[in-house]
Amino acid sequence: MAEYPIHEYDVLVVGAGGAGLRAAIEASASGAKTGVVTKSLLGKAHTVMAEGGMAAAMGNVDDRDNWRVHFADTMRGGQYMNNCRMAELHAKEAPARVKELEAWGAIFDRTKDGKILQRNFGGHRYPRLAHVGDRTGLEMIRTLQDHGIHQGIEFHMEATILTLLKDGERCVGAFGYDRERGRFKLFHAKAVVLATGGIGRAYQITSNSWEYTADGHALAYNAGAALLDMEFVQFHPTGMVWPPSVKGILVTEGVRGEGGVLKNKDGKRFMFDDIPENYRSQTADTPEEGWRYVQGDKSARRPPELLTRDHVARCINREVKAGRGSPHGGVFLDIAWIKEKLPNSVEHIKKKLPSMYHQFKQLADLDITQEPMEIGPTTHYAMGGIQVEGDTQMSSVPGLFAAGECAAGLHGANRLGGNSLSDLLVFGKRAGEYAAKFAKERGAGKIDMAHVDTTAKLALEPFERGAAAENPFAVQQELQESMQKLVGIVRVENEMQRALEIIAKLKSRAAQAGVGGHREYNTGWHTALDLDNLLTISEIVALAGIERKESRGGHFRDDYPERSAEFAKVNLRISKGADGKPRIERVPVVPLTEDLTHAIEEQK
Ligand SMILES: Cc1cc2nc3c(=O)[nH]c(=O)nc-3n(C[C@H](O)[C@H](O)[C@H](O)COP(=O)(O)OP(=O)(O)OC[C@H]3O[C@@H](n4cnc5c(N)ncnc54)[C@H](O)[C@@H]3O)c2cc1C
Repeated sequence: MAEYPIHEYDVLVVGAGGAGLRAAIEASASGAKTGVVTKSLLGKAHTVMAEGGMAAAMGNVDDRDNWRVHFADTMRGGQYMNNCRMAELHAKEAPARVKELEAWGAIFDRTKDGKILQRNFGGHRYPRLAHVGDRTGLEMIRTLQDHGIHQGIEFHMEATILTLLKDGERCVGAFGYDRERGRFKLFHAKAVVLATGGIGRAYQITSNSWEYTADGHALAYNAGAALLDMEFVQFHPTGMVWPPSVKGILVTEGVRGEGGVLKNKDGKRFMFDDIPENYRSQTADTPEEGWRYVQGDKSARRPPELLTRDHVARCINREVKAGRGSPHGGVFLDIAWIKEKLPNSVEHIKKKLPSMYHQFKQLADLDITQEPMEIGPTTHYAMGGIQVEGDTQMSSVPGLFAAGECAAGLHGANRLGGNSLSDLLVFGKRAGEYAAKFAKERGAGKIDMAHVDTTAKLALEPFERGAAAENPFAVQQELQESMQKLVGIVRVENEMQRALEIIAKLKSRAAQAGVGGHREYNTGWHTALDLDNLLTISEIVALAGIERKESRGGHFRDDYPERSAEFAKVNLRISKGADGKPRIERVPVVPLTEDLTHAIEEQK
């Protein structure tokens, strides 16, 4: 039996994005010895890329806002697939979490009277997103790190967890390697919180960072935890489409929140042509009313560009397919037009959307204060993830918690923009709190060293096969192309079946992947190890996509274009069967209480 350095914690947090840091702060504040493992350097987690803001019904800009409206918006946006308890907790607790972040040093944009400024975003009835220009994620990470670093939390940067360790049914730690030297690390913990983010790297066109290889989803699934709602993948309507090297990079919804409009190649604002019935009463009738809305006129309704992401993405797709797209396969997003309305539009755009201004100037040589951008849908967010209990964030494996994008429940079939950053704070805190509580109540479990040794042996096999064996990058690329083409924004059964066949072949090839060189910073090796997670989760997305025979939220079936009353009642729960294969069950959606039903009806 090999020997590995062992790190002992009460609570081990995997991930140093918003959810992981908030969980670690809470666990550590309650006296638990806390460690954080992150694949990248501290400060580089994907959350740092978040732009538009965090949603919290503080009512600073429109005092009609309150938790009930936020709750109803979240449920409608998620097409009632949400765990309503999580949506309730989120709407109630987000304002306190934002104010707490401010007390810890976050410098938000301000209203004229000094309150935290809130901006419009798709699907939110009132201006609700607390923000720092279009760099909100950076401010969030900076603040959480500053706060957390002084609490004695231990960080393991550039370390990747390969497997979770169990003692019987209970999770008791994790095993992985450090990327810098390629040496193994063993973590013995009384409770583990997964906060590993999303799955976007399973697709070819994505706004997601390199870290998003579905690790947490696969770690939990392989450890016996159930996943939920994996068919619901969000394709954000506005990613860059040109030049090719930057395809997929996000263009924040904040552009539309500040008055940006979508046009086809004929200059037509096509979003007015397709307003879903359940949003009609909340949507502007004319461009003039839409403009008044983004300027803060409380009597106006929001422009159709601020409908939910799933809908806007499909409308863009339709324009492109009908031959009315832009030269590079997208449509136009125009914020420059506001010069007709605002004499200081150039300064205004640069102040409100500084990152977007620089992003287009530097990457596409385009001045967004003068010209429209070319944009198209990009894989953005996984609504599905690890099934958790709403209050505590514990998964179906005792001692294993999950928070942030890798957890499921809050967003249902479609996430509203801004609801992720608030999700990280609300449920990161809860996961940390309950993981610490769990740790206090239990002794340390026993590590299964045989499992550790097998994992280490398997992890080193790509070196034994050598560089002449299967190329891990080629396998990853083929997977991404297949998922994009066959399990993308518009799905049909035979294409998803085809994806499953391809994935099965890619799994065999991935098992033969080899690498040359040594263990220090070997990206080929890292990719070979990530493949298993990407393939496992891609298969599950395709299976769940086939099972849900209807169109809802992020899941659009060309062969079942309508919503179905039967599927309206169920979430899809996937766990590993005794034969090692994914097992899908239909489980009833968490029922609404009387009060929550009223909260929804009040907004109709
Ligand atoms: C460009 C962009 C802009 C966005 N803007 C907004 C916005 O304005 N508002 C909003 O609400 N949402 C926004 N989102 C979504 C939001 O940013 C993410 O959903 C959120 O940041 C995810 O946070 P997280 O803490 O769950 O994960 P992350 O921030 O991604 O952190 C994941 C962590 O897990 C670590 N990790 C992963 N796997 C392993 C492993 N195997 N071992 C060890 N560590 C591991 C990573 O290294 C990282 O530290 C945006 C997303 C993008 C792409």
